[in-house]
Amino acid sequence: MPHINNQELARPSLYIPLGIVLAALVLVAVFLMKIPNFIRNGTYSLLREGLKEKAVWTTRDMETITGQHFIVRYTNGNQKDAELVLATAEQFYGPIAAKYGFSSSRKIPVIVYPSRAELNRNFGWPANESAMGVYWAGVIRVLSPTVWVPDQDPLSFQETFKKSGPMAHEFTHLVVDYVTAGNYTRWFTEGMAQYEEYKLTGFEFDEPTASLDQPLYSLSQMDRDFDNLPNQPLAYRQSYLAVRYIAEEYGEGALKSILINLARGKNMELALQSVLGMEMQQFEAKYQKWGMEKEKLHQL
Ligand SMILES: [Zn+2]
Repeated sequence: MPHINNQELARPSLYIPLGIVLAALVLVAVFLMKIPNFIRNGTYSLLREGLKEKAVWTTRDMETITGQHFIVRYTNGNQKDAELVLATAEQFYGPIAAKYGFSSSRKIPVIVYPSRAELNRNFGWPANESAMGVYWAGVIRVLSPTVWVPDQDPLSFQETFKKSGPMAHEFTHLVVDYVTAGNYTRWFTEGMAQYEEYKLTGFEFDEPTASLDQPLYSLSQMDRDFDNLPNQPLAYRQSYLAVRYIAEEYGEGALKSILINLARGKNMELALQSVLGMEMQQFEAKYQKWGMEKEKLHQL
């Protein structure tokens, strides 16, 4: 049976619009005008908030429930799923927000789609995409748990959604995006999202094709072309292990320090250098060696 948390494997296109539109605007501005970091951050945040408000407006006719930190939109008749989505999001908010210094004065929009087709249509995906959740431009979109959670018993239904669902993962993407004002690399945010998922739910990748006993991708390859790498499970697992290596060898505080450096406008290489005291090349060799040794000892 395929693992029900394979949603990330089928999540190619959501970063592309944001990457192209926002990053291109910001990069052009940075290169042409050498704008100070606070203006770059402000511009990015303004664009993202604009896109977020647009999503909130266009879903205004959907049913709505609100919690302390989230506002959940859902379709008529789907309230039970919406309540579970909201409760799960609220449960993960505290630990992730506190760890990485995130706070939000506005409620975070979550849109619950009743079918894969509806979710996919929002991103122009082909109908067979199997994503369970996406984060893009300040909004978390998820597939209704009823569509994919197999359990009949209400308690195990909730447990399965909490443990195998996309909430911790997508919320971490949001936190990384907000804390750094969009200044992060793809492997880093995928690694962070999977690391928090692992810490909060125990979920880890379990794909035989993601074994480290094969030629590995470089971090720069993953930054440039993540979605087109042929072995997606490997790209996701390498991202996860790079972040877990930092957390386990340098402490979770190092992850927060990297976020702070990114927020100040350093690129990933300089942020790693400041926090870990090594060049990207050395970091790459070290995390791979660490991962391969752990894998051999069955500690991953
Ligand atoms: Zn992800």
